Amino acid sequence: EYKDMSKERMMEIRRQNCNPMTMKVTYYKKPVYIHQGHMQWLWDVDGRRYLDLFAGVATVSVGHCHPKVTAAAEKQLRKLWHTTNIYVHSPLHEYTEKLAATLPDPLKVIYLTNSGSEANDLAMLMARLHTGNFDVITLRGSYHGGSPHTMGLTSNAAYKYPVASGLGCHNTMCPDVFAGPWGGSNCRDSPVQTIRNCSCPQGSCTANDKYIGQLNEVFATSVPSRIAGFFGEPIMGVGGAVQYPKNFLKDTYKLVRERGGVCIADEVQTGFGRTGSHFWGFQGHEVIPDMVTMAKGIANGFPMGAVVTTPEIAASFGKGVHFNTFGGNPVACAIASSVLDTMEEDGTQQISHDVGTYLLTELAKMRDKYEIIGDVRGKGLQIGVEMVKDKASRKPLPPAAMSEIFEDTKDMGVLIGKGGVYGQTFRIKPPMCITRDDADFFLAVFNHALHNYMEDHH
Ligand code: PMP
Repeated sequence: EYKDMSKERMMEIRRQNCNPMTMKVTYYKKPVYIHQGHMQWLWDVDGRRYLDLFAGVATVSVGHCHPKVTAAAEKQLRKLWHTTNIYVHSPLHEYTEKLAATLPDPLKVIYLTNSGSEANDLAMLMARLHTGNFDVITLRGSYHGGSPHTMGLTSNAAYKYPVASGLGCHNTMCPDVFAGPWGGSNCRDSPVQTIRNCSCPQGSCTANDKYIGQLNEVFATSVPSRIAGFFGEPIMGVGGAVQYPKNFLKDTYKLVRERGGVCIADEVQTGFGRTGSHFWGFQGHEVIPDMVTMAKGIANGFPMGAVVTTPEIAASFGKGVHFNTFGGNPVACAIASSVLDTMEEDGTQQISHDVGTYLLTELAKMRDKYEIIGDVRGKGLQIGVEMVKDKASRKPLPPAAMSEIFEDTKDMGVLIGKGGVYGQTFRIKPPMCITRDDADFFLAVFNHALHNYMEDHH
């Protein structure tokens, strides 16, 4: 019988032997000590149950310890743990064929990695070798990884270190139709819209032109005439579920390609049906990237990542030798393969769409009721609730207030996430097995937490 270590002992070891950052980011004032998980549920060491709406940041895609995926892992563990890819083994091929089938032509060549940062690192290298150019553009506020190269793509001060990193990386303005200066209500692709915040007539929004103007300014002032590429998430993750005006990615891809660059969709959070309407987030923007990077939900929490690209780009990259000891590990491939089967059998994309739309619609009603909810946005089960001091100023709700609501929600049995550059956005990205009843439970809890906060402070 497995027994957890005592909480005190774990904290002592954490202080002495663990990355000090793990103390700093202990999300809650009273930490959650996890014992085990099953589907959308987590249990702590005292036997308290939590509804997990954060899923390790959109990572547990089909459910904690999903029985089918666990069985596939166990089966492979008894057969073969590891072999380098210089030997041919079935799980890798079964998986890559299945994954390729989910993507449109010409995205058919797959490189398996062990994390999202590693996937973005590799994509950046490939973009540079293929184009012969160096400079890369991302959106301000985005997160693309913590390795020295990807730290340059990342544009969020909390994750930056003062070292030479990410040479040749540039950021353009984040097209945020809620907090940005140009409004843009009703021109993003979500079942709920922002509170109307611009004067242009319905259906003729000009915010996109302004943000594209900013990108043109980066081209004119900050980069050589030829660039290597552009990285963008279909919906920002860590950045706080920011959605762009319609056509923003389409117009950006066109301009980037005109300058010799390739376009990379970072689907680390938005992939695998999370946005509900499509299996891949980019499909909601009517674009086809030159490369897609993925991780997190790919293997339901088992460490894995991937870059998918075109035969043409792969050919440019094939001139050198690329080797990755663990990328394509048989256990990871067996798990990821089972995850794809499970997504189909359990209808997770449909669940994302249905439960996600329900959550968004109900949260938008709460936005209209509470002065401190500024914006509700997202698609499927990639949801952001941006908290403000008041609706008129749209200034971020300060961290202490965020914490209070966050802690209260946890104490009532629901785990959610925080994000946005100022930590002002609650993030909801549960395992894609949640039900409408779970959504109702969360809505009641969140409503209660907001009510408590308002009672105490207003
Ligand atoms: N891209 C995005 C969009 C992410 O959210 C993350 C992780 N938060 C990464 C890349 C990096 O992934 P990893 O932590 O697996 O390196």
